[in-house]
Amino acid sequence: MSATAEEISAVNLPIVPTDEEVEIRAAVRGICERVGGPEYHRRIVANDKSPTELWNALAEKGYLGVNLPERYGGGGLGMHALQMVGEEISAAGCSLLLIVVSPAIVGSIIARHGTEAQRDEWLPGIAAGTTKVAFAITEPDAGTNSHNLSTAATRDGDKYRVRGTKTYISGVEDVDAILVIARKREEDGTLGLPLLMLIDVDSPGLEKQHIPVAVKASDKQWTLFFDDVEVPADRVVGESETAGLKAAFDGLNPERIMGASVSNGVGRRALEIAAAYANERVVWKTPIGAHQGLSHPLAHAKIELELARLMTQKAAALYDAGVPAGEPANMAKYAAAEAAIKCVDQAIQTHGGNGFALEYGLTDMYWGARLARTAPVSREMILNYVAEHSLGLPRSY
Ligand SMILES: Cc1cc2nc3c(=O)[nH]c(=O)nc-3n(C[C@H](O)[C@H](O)[C@H](O)COP(=O)(O)OP(=O)(O)OC[C@H]3O[C@@H](n4cnc5c(N)ncnc54)[C@H](O)[C@@H]3O)c2cc1C
Repeated sequence: MSATAEEISAVNLPIVPTDEEVEIRAAVRGICERVGGPEYHRRIVANDKSPTELWNALAEKGYLGVNLPERYGGGGLGMHALQMVGEEISAAGCSLLLIVVSPAIVGSIIARHGTEAQRDEWLPGIAAGTTKVAFAITEPDAGTNSHNLSTAATRDGDKYRVRGTKTYISGVEDVDAILVIARKREEDGTLGLPLLMLIDVDSPGLEKQHIPVAVKASDKQWTLFFDDVEVPADRVVGESETAGLKAAFDGLNPERIMGASVSNGVGRRALEIAAAYANERVVWKTPIGAHQGLSHPLAHAKIELELARLMTQKAAALYDAGVPAGEPANMAKYAAAEAAIKCVDQAIQTHGGNGFALEYGLTDMYWGARLARTAPVSREMILNYVAEHSLGLPRSY
């Protein structure tokens, strides 16, 4: 959907970094470094720990709620600021998958679609980082086809009973609640519109099973089994039961913007490491970076990365202005994922055999970069979106 000329004229895309932006980036970077940077991240992953020190240090200074309204204790700076925080965390060699979920997806959905009571109850904690909420849409049998979601919410007096399975849900080990997309069981037994429900992580009937993955992220992945989990009706997000669809779609743009920002940070870090090595390592007469066989692919990756960062800023600016941001958010996520993969792959190539040594940290980055081609939305589904919505081509599915 295209924005109107009037809507676009209200959007401010800040290309020149403001003093505030420079300060936020430097402060976040500084906090990540003080906590221990890449060594901290490696230790957390190796010891199967949560990144609590990093989360708390960023939360204390308000960086995990920079996007949320000031009225609820947030920074009031929108997704434009949160995407900078996400980028700086991964550029510093750290990882906090929950930042994509709790303040970005869940915080944005509640801020825009929650009832006043829900905003008062949830946003101050999410903005302060003291309340963490995961997000669960993916199901084993529905996959990318969200029309096939089968987690069912059946009304029972003043509550719902939820049954179903969600999979690959990040960070459940550390959260207080999960924002679950279920579908309302209608009286005739069919599944109706989606309902977004805030479900306590320790609800009776909710079981979780760890999914080991190759990604060296500090947050874990889980399959969740909901066996008649009771959810009070006032935990359905929004004023009405029909509000869920729009709310769910609205949460996807912050998810894509944050996915892009994390990839942008990974790409920056990979190029920094690669350039440093290419300047130092000499095997003929000059540093290896003098050979165009190495410098051109790095330059190419740098250009693609900067274009992805620009599209990420555009998507955030449009989202913050409240105008349709689906197209730039999808494009930013696609471009950033592909750029990050290229940056990491080329950094590995630049290091020769050392690219495979754990000591150089590049192998740790590989699966994180590669993940972005698949999640939170796959490369193919973005191409489907652009083909259909930007180019007006017919759907194949
Ligand atoms: C580490 C990790 C963390 C995750 N965190 C979360 C989370 O916190 N919450 C959550 O809800 N989910 C999460 N996910 C799930 C993730 O969003 C999905 O894995 C992703 O959207 C792909 O869905 P799928 O795995 O069901 O793939 P499938 O739908 O089975 O697709 C398989 C392949 O087919 C392609 N494909 C499918 N349909 C089409 C089509 N019409 N045209 C072209 N190609 C198509 C896909 O692009 C993909 O390449 C996470 C996944 C991972 C790996």
